[in-house]
Parts: sequence; C-alpha cells; structure tokens
Amino acid sequence: MITFEQALQVVLDAVGKKADLPKERCEYVSLEDSCGRVLQQVVKTDRDTPPFHKSAMDGYACTYADLEQGRPMRLLEVVPAGTTPKYQITGGCCSKVMTGAMVPQGAEYVLMVEDAIVEDNTVCTAPHCRIAPHKTNICLRGEDVQAGVPLLNLGAFLKPQHIAMLAAYGYTELCVAIKPKVGIISTGDELVEPSVTPSDVQIRNSNGWQLLAQVSRAGASPSYYGIVQDKAQALRAALMQALKENAVVVLSGGVSMGDFDMVPEVLKSLGVNILFDRVAVQPGKPTLFGVWNNGGDSRYLFGLPGNPVSSFIQFELMVRPLLMSLMGAFPQAITLRLPLSHPYRRKSAERMAHLPMEIDESGRCNLLNYNGSGHITALNTAHGMARIPLGVLELQEDAAVEVILL
Ligand code: AMP
Ligand code: MG
Repeated sequence: MITFEQALQVVLDAVGKKADLPKERCEYVSLEDSCGRVLQQVVKTDRDTPPFHKSAMDGYACTYADLEQGRPMRLLEVVPAGTTPKYQITGGCCSKVMTGAMVPQGAEYVLMVEDAIVEDNTVCTAPHCRIAPHKTNICLRGEDVQAGVPLLNLGAFLKPQHIAMLAAYGYTELCVAIKPKVGIISTGDELVEPSVTPSDVQIRNSNGWQLLAQVSRAGASPSYYGIVQDKAQALRAALMQALKENAVVVLSGGVSMGDFDMVPEVLKSLGVNILFDRVAVQPGKPTLFGVWNNGGDSRYLFGLPGNPVSSFIQFELMVRPLLMSLMGAFPQAITLRLPLSHPYRRKSAERMAHLPMEIDESGRCNLLNYNGSGHITALNTAHGMARIPLGVLELQEDAAVEVILL
C-alpha cells in the first residue's frame, strides 16, 4: 500500500504540470463569467491607483500651516468626485472636496466636515478637533499600486475578490482554461436517488450529488451518469461511455474487497492502467486511480470508496489537485497548524487519518464527534479536517496538528 504523498505524486505526474496550456485548451470568457475559472493570461495594472491625489473624506482641502495655526480659510469652490478642481490652494484658502474627488494642487490636508465650522464662506477648525500631521485624509497617486505592475499570473484561480481588480483595470474579457469535463458515476445495488423513498435496506445516493458540487466548486464541468448496478456488464457500458465523453471520470463505490465490488476487474477489462488501488489514508483506503488511453489522449479515472466522508476527503485531496493541474492551476488547499484542544489517541497508526474539526474560541483544534466514514453529518459544522500523520498513535493536548480548511 502506498502513502498519501506517493499517491498524490502519481496523480500529478500522470497529468504533468504546465502553467501555460496550449491554445486549444483555453477560451475567452466575459468578466461576469470569469469567477471560478483559471487564468491563462497575465493581468496588469493600466494606470496608477489611485490615479490622482484623492480625498479619503468629505472635507476641506487646505494647507497644513493654516490648520496648525488655527487660521480661518476662505472657501474657493466645491469639488465633487469626477470633476477637476479649478483653483490651487494657497495659505488662507480652502476648497470643499467630496470623498473620491481629486484634491486641488497645493492642498496638504483634508479637514473632515465633522471637524469644521463654516460661516459666511469662511472655514474654521472646530474647537474639539486635533490635527494629526500624518493623517492627511489624502490618498496619494499610485500609493496602492503603480501602472504596468503584474497583479495575477497564469494559473491563478479567480475568486470574487479578484473581480473588482479586473474591472478596475479595464478587463472585460479574460483568457481562461477550458473547464475539464468530469463524468460522475455512483455504483451500488442498494442506492436510490434522493427523490425516491428508500426501502428498509436501501440508502439514498448522496455521494453522486456531493461529487457534482465538488466538481463545480473546483472549476470543472460535471456530467452525471446516474446510479449503476453492481453488474459487470452495466458497469462496463457506463464506464466506457463516461471515459469516451470526459477528461476525468469519478466513480464512487464498488472499489473495496466485497463480493460485488467489481470496479477494478471491469476497469482492467477495459484496458484502464490502474496506477494504485490502495492508499494508506483513513478514511479512503480503497481509493483507486487509473489512466485510459483514448487514441493518444489520456483519460483519468478515480474510483472513490462509497462512504460519503471518504469520497469527500479523497476528492479534495486527490481529484481536486488533478483538476487544478489539468487547468494549469496550482493546488491550493489552505492548511494551518493549530494546537489540539484535547489529547488524542487511536488504536492503529498504519494510515494517515483525517478527522472533522472545528476551531474553538481560543483558536485551538477541537475534534468533532465522528463515528467514521459513513458519518457525513459530522462535516456539518466542521471548519476543516485535522490530519494525523502515519505512525502517530497519540497526541498530547496543545500538540500542533495540521488542519486542511474546507
Ligand atoms: P462500497 O464502497 O461500495 O463498498 O460502499 C461502502 C459504503 O458506502 C456502503 O455502506 C454503501 O452503501 C455506501 N455507499 C456507496 N455508494 C454510496 C453513495 N453513492 N451514496 C451514499 N452512500 C454510498
Ligand atoms: Mg457498493
């Protein structure tokens, strides 16, 4: 049985990492469709930010000396945002500026409206007001970023917080990686879809729907092939179709050692090269990965265990990095090291374990009540999964553990 690190390396090596994809694997999308996609171009600033000396407050633009000496100032004009000031500021005068407006030349300070007393076109500092020389309320041209600076590189996964920036620098269309197609198959004679009332011995297919959501969140394009019975012929037909129609196939169930777990046998008969079928992880030991050659074009296949927590974790740990690599992006699981809130002990240390956890009020890692890989509701309030390394049997309170945020 190989370790998790070895298995992940096999997966990444099978794809080969390239940040810049060939043209045929890229497309242009509009700004509004770019969130959740992987960038295939460099994004740069086209102007200084702020583009001019900008007022951070509604107030009076003036010289510092006038404020320091408490001199009354004659009001020259009102400058709304989006207009150019007409007058320069010199001693004894000021202009009213709105937040976001260009500050007139010569101004050193914006006195907030709350701190000013205005009478007969003359502005004075209110008695309660204290002038702090470093807090000028003026954002200087280019202080955030200057023109021509690269902001995002090829391989960046676009998130909502990137979108304002793209808009600010005039990007209306972006070159992104085409979404890989991912076929999803649920296997198991006991499964029914959520719309069906299960008999006593049936269970609802939860994995298939979970996988659809995970594939979408990863920025790929899922197709659902439904529930397939544990019959070699049915599995063969569904797998063949899914392998032909998708870059990646993810199936769940049927990969363990049970009498009806026939996925490995069927895959071999289809000519899928199985690169591993057991990984020293818990949950998720029977995770399988293979490559199928479709006339020179590689198709990747994951067989995930049927239990929904196993399937969830193994998707995040192995399938997601593969999808990221196919899009020229870099795996980006966010990990933390947090102290354990209670001591931890387990019976066997032969596998790397992942346990649902929450971050408690003191910032420690609190392991949640968890019965094992079928206990999907344990993930309900989980902030992440705590990773217990292979070979570690027990941990003291406050021992640092690695946490993968979900
Ligand atoms: P298997 O990996 O096929 O041996 O299944 C392991 C466990 O997961 C069994 O209890 C199955 O009933 C359950 N299971 C398999 N597939 C699914 C699914 N799609 N949704 C929910 N549970 C499943
Ligand atoms: Mg099964």
